[in-house]
Amino acid sequence: MTALVWFRDDLRIADNPALHAALANSAKHGGRVIAVYILETDTRPLGAAAKWWLHHSLLQLGEALASLGVPLTVVSGSAKSLIPELVSVAACGAVYWNRRYGVQKDADRVLRQHLENSGVCVNSFIGNLLVEPWQISTAQGAPYRVFGAFWRSVSALPPPPTVDIPAPATELPGSADKPKFPAENSAEDIADSDVNQARLSREIAALGLLPEGVSWTAGLAARWQPGEAAAQQQLHSFLDGGLRGYEKQRDYPAISATSELSPHLRWGEISPRTVLNACLARSAVARSTAEKTGIAKFLSELGWREFAWHTLFHNPSLATDPLDSRFYNMPYLEPEAAGLRAWQRGETGFALVDAGMRELWETGFMHNRVRMVTASFLTKHMLCDWRVGEAWFWDTLVDADPASNPFNWQWVAGCGVDSAPYFRIFNPESQQKRFDPAGEYVKLWCGDAAEQTERILDLPASRMRALAAYQSIK
Ligand SMILES: Cc1cc2nc3c(=O)[nH]c(=O)nc-3n(C[C@H](O)[C@H](O)[C@H](O)COP(=O)(O)OP(=O)(O)OC[C@H]3O[C@@H](n4cnc5c(N)ncnc54)[C@H](O)[C@@H]3O)c2cc1C
Repeated sequence: MTALVWFRDDLRIADNPALHAALANSAKHGGRVIAVYILETDTRPLGAAAKWWLHHSLLQLGEALASLGVPLTVVSGSAKSLIPELVSVAACGAVYWNRRYGVQKDADRVLRQHLENSGVCVNSFIGNLLVEPWQISTAQGAPYRVFGAFWRSVSALPPPPTVDIPAPATELPGSADKPKFPAENSAEDIADSDVNQARLSREIAALGLLPEGVSWTAGLAARWQPGEAAAQQQLHSFLDGGLRGYEKQRDYPAISATSELSPHLRWGEISPRTVLNACLARSAVARSTAEKTGIAKFLSELGWREFAWHTLFHNPSLATDPLDSRFYNMPYLEPEAAGLRAWQRGETGFALVDAGMRELWETGFMHNRVRMVTASFLTKHMLCDWRVGEAWFWDTLVDADPASNPFNWQWVAGCGVDSAPYFRIFNPESQQKRFDPAGEYVKLWCGDAAEQTERILDLPASRMRALAAYQSIK
């Protein structure tokens, strides 16, 4: 019996419960395992930086799966029709996937029903979270809205174990039992690993994830190495660094004190359980309290990721609807083209904002402290709807995440869960003095331009305007 593993945001081999179960069962029943990734055309389209990451990550995944004797095929379209089609042409008796928690969860439920009705066994697993969102709730049975209580509740549970992949098949499947993938590939011998990799490269190229011509992706390639191997390496070199100063230094954008694991976690190249267990193991042998404190703080950041996903599960329209309904009436200003462009390009005349926006454009990433400052500047000083900023980040971040991005935009804008109070408006100048006192971060991304750019707004006046707008909906 052939088993199909449907990869979604879990582009890894290690601690991948769906892949693990498919391989374990195939070893038991003597069947074969094939894999698919679908670039879905009926969900929110990926941003440009995310597409770049996905392209490279799929190439890495294909190679890793080939070493296990699992051929990966990549297609674009609607999963609703493609999965049943694949199941039928490859004569699959079982489908395996790791669960999703955003809007696609409903489509997954419908698809599962459809497959089961036609006699296909569907097996789903928790792969990208520490705890299922329905597993924890407040004493009143409601979803948590306060991070501290949420994280205490998650931390009280025993740490979820990771799963190891069974030993790879000693023989790759023979061509006699090769699956017949969609028409254009049927002539290929999928059992030949070189041919298989060449086919996969063509399929990935056909998705059109990379922008055409000379482009800004050089900056992404200079900073990032997508893929599972790089994710594991990044985790271990970060932990080897000791985390002693993490708690304080994580706020200083000029210091490389954070893990930079967010794009790897976003694409599921590493699981949160792997990160958690590696941290707990490190904490158990840590020699100083400072290191233990650093690890605990780092884990609570992983907790914010978890909190964002649980919040999305309970609020599927997180990217479009404010969680605080008063914000439907917030008198945001229609974004004025020149001002918005100045923000996007890092030409506002406020050095820390400009440095952050330039870092984002150059590298597909921005330091967390600066994300908060740039987002506050847009939604409060510029009085621009948070969804405009969310969309820009969605297009430009390599870690653009369906949960964390809207969750954090709502948090900064004041309409999210456990949000910063609206009246706390980050002053970009004092934030710069406090968190980039020597101006190293600003210098790195703006050079001398920071002092020369004319300011697009008056800070005190725009602050007062934002407060007045908030008063009007209170
Ligand atoms: C406006 C705004 C938009 C954001 N958009 C995203 C996004 O699209 N994707 C994304 O992964 N993060 C987002 N964040 C959260 C945070 O900025 C990044 O996760 C963090 O900067 C990644 O760097 P790191 O991996 O070095 O973090 P570390 O400090 O090493 O933290 C470890 C991990 O914890 C998680 N994490 C840390 N902070 C947060 C947080 N506030 N919310 C959710 N998870 C967190 C990330 O997975 C991160 O990799 C956003 C924050 C803001 C203010």
